[in-house]
Amino acid sequence: MVERTLGIVKPDGIRRGLIGEVLRRIEGAGLKIVALKMRQLTAGEAEGFYYVHKEKPFFKDLVNFMTSGPVVLFVLEGENAIERYRQLMGATDPKKAEKGTIRGDLAESIQCNTVHGSDGPETAKFEISYFFSQTEIITR
Ligand code: ATP
Ligand code: MG
Repeated sequence: MVERTLGIVKPDGIRRGLIGEVLRRIEGAGLKIVALKMRQLTAGEAEGFYYVHKEKPFFKDLVNFMTSGPVVLFVLEGENAIERYRQLMGATDPKKAEKGTIRGDLAESIQCNTVHGSDGPETAKFEISYFFSQTEIITR
């Protein structure tokens, strides 16, 4: 099934000059970028985006991290795109992520893990509409 998923290059990735490297790996894996923009998130936007984690002990640090610098937001499209992009990213903790994955090769820590990707169809739908309007997504 052709799916869409939301991805982010997180502030640590941008500070280290990894926008191009992340997008190169995505394109190299055959996933199509159908929307792309750079933004500085407000605390409110980051809190809303990660609301599922609001009771977690790392939530405040996560919001501070996600607002510590600009992010690159993108929508990917492709057959089974949600799972394929999760595989490409690797495990949340870079110490546990396999070599050859974005986090395994490039991420610094469980918090500063360079990229985000939606974890399922419902999440993808919520996350894409959180950051992109219909007219910002290429449909042909
Ligand atoms: P993401 O949602 O960003 O794609 P993920 O789905 O792999 O990552 P989640 O469990 O959803 O992981 O956690 C969201 C984010 O919160 C992580 O990517 C990371 O930046 C941060 N995070 C998760 N667990 C921890 C932790 N134990 N300590 C600090 N930060 C954490
Ligand atoms: Mg997640």
